[in-house]
Amino acid sequence: MSNECLYHEINKNHSSQQHSADVAITVAMGDGIGPEITRATLKVLSAAKARIVTESIDIGEQVYLAGHSSGIRQDAWQSLRRTKVFLKGPITTPSGSGYKSLNVTIRKTLGLYANVRPCISYSPYVHTLHPDMDLVIIRENEEDLYAGIEHRQTDEVYQCLKLITRPGCEKIIRYAFEYARNHGRKKVTCMVKDNIMKMTDGLFYKVFQEIGAEYPDILQDRYIIDIGSARLATRPELFDVIVTSNLYGDIISDIAAELSGSIGLAGSANIGEHVAMFEAIHGCAPDIAGQNIANPSGLLLAAVMMLVHIGQADIAQKIHNAWLKTIEDGIHTKDLKSEYTKVLVTTDQFAEAVIARLGTEPQRFSAVSYQNSTQQQKAVTVAYQPQAAAEKILVGVDVFLHQHQHSADELAQHLKQLETTELELQMITNRGVKVWPDGFPETFCTDHWRCRFMLRPGLTQLAYSDIIRLLSQISGDKLDVIKTENLCSFNGEPGFTLGQGQ
Ligand code: NAD
Repeated sequence: MSNECLYHEINKNHSSQQHSADVAITVAMGDGIGPEITRATLKVLSAAKARIVTESIDIGEQVYLAGHSSGIRQDAWQSLRRTKVFLKGPITTPSGSGYKSLNVTIRKTLGLYANVRPCISYSPYVHTLHPDMDLVIIRENEEDLYAGIEHRQTDEVYQCLKLITRPGCEKIIRYAFEYARNHGRKKVTCMVKDNIMKMTDGLFYKVFQEIGAEYPDILQDRYIIDIGSARLATRPELFDVIVTSNLYGDIISDIAAELSGSIGLAGSANIGEHVAMFEAIHGCAPDIAGQNIANPSGLLLAAVMMLVHIGQADIAQKIHNAWLKTIEDGIHTKDLKSEYTKVLVTTDQFAEAVIARLGTEPQRFSAVSYQNSTQQQKAVTVAYQPQAAAEKILVGVDVFLHQHQHSADELAQHLKQLETTELELQMITNRGVKVWPDGFPETFCTDHWRCRFMLRPGLTQLAYSDIIRLLSQISGDKLDVIKTENLCSFNGEPGFTLGQGQ
């Protein structure tokens, strides 16, 4: 059946009794195995009588190759903004710097701040070393190192900005607690590296503690990300809901998906205040595209999450239980082949097997129940309430210089002569390590120097014009200024860290 016919089939199923409860969703077939698994998923949705009408959009490879470097056309954006619900097949991002990742573009443009990935073992039917794994990773989806702000600053040094915001932390952490409460989960674990990144990861953990205080019914703990990842890889049963920032979440969610046995099984939701997108976690698998052997389960389980999100928990439950029954009956696609496989099926046959089991429940696996959470699902999306502005006082400046000709001590002597009546040199670091005063000769130095000037004793605050005066002294001396960072206090708390060794 062609894509057009399938959309028609789904929409026709409802046309005779279509009523206001039908929810419009946008569907993109995607690239590679995308059309095969999306067709299979839509067939199951149709057979389960999901109360939806579909709008089809084209995204991905063909759109890129037609000259749209973002991989999406304007009319597709209009559909997404109209329906606010997106079921998306995987897509190819062509290699080459001229193409932007469509996944990142969609997440950030539509404010899809929460990436939700359940990672569950289906032992013994899917081989895994961790049969008791049943966890959900909730990853912040918009900021952190993925802000994409990178610069080359000197001959030797490149920089990527890690941006962590209070609204970003509040939204993702509250989402994680609401998700845990609404899904009957007992514990939320925060993973950070706040022993090193005291301001950015420190904020994430501080907000976790603040918001966690509002959820005394949920157990809470924290792991430093390195030991947390190690524990996840060896004892995933320790975890229930994990909330973390973008890069850590990207890494640990792939670890967890791999541990569960097959990448073809996991679905994910990308949730925003206005729009939500549902997709499999895997890519478009070009190596098996067009062979009708791909496992459609990841996208089908993403569609189950979508149904819960749009308030159709009854249909979600029916499909999810039929899927569990199919797996435990040993009806498997090639990626799941094991001694528990009774019938090896194609993508289409797998969908037919799920359809044949609609209305039944699994015997070996526990049946799922979404009935209690129907209404609460929508409330999981949380909006940020801005806080009152802090009292911000300018107290110094870090001036970053590109230079190789002077040692740290020579540079300091030089800069001392350029001090102004308001600002004096306090410290020089190289790659964050203090090299003046009292630096060690063993410290390796590059051509990138951070020179910290603080306001002189007796002064309480600087004006930005004081910094400009210092900078004109420095640039007049032919030193190469890369950039500056203002040093401020916020309600009396320093808004900057010390140098390592300071
Ligand atoms: P991939 O996930 O497409 O494939 C990795 C391996 O898993 C392959 O061997 C593949 O055959 C297998 N596999 C994946 N899904 C399967 C399924 N449903 N059933 C059975 N086997 C399955 O990862 P990749 O090869 O690194 O990436 C291929 C393309 O997908 C790239 O262009 C990449 O950019 C894109 N991609 C897209 C998304 C997305 O759209 N969300 C995510 C990841 C990768």
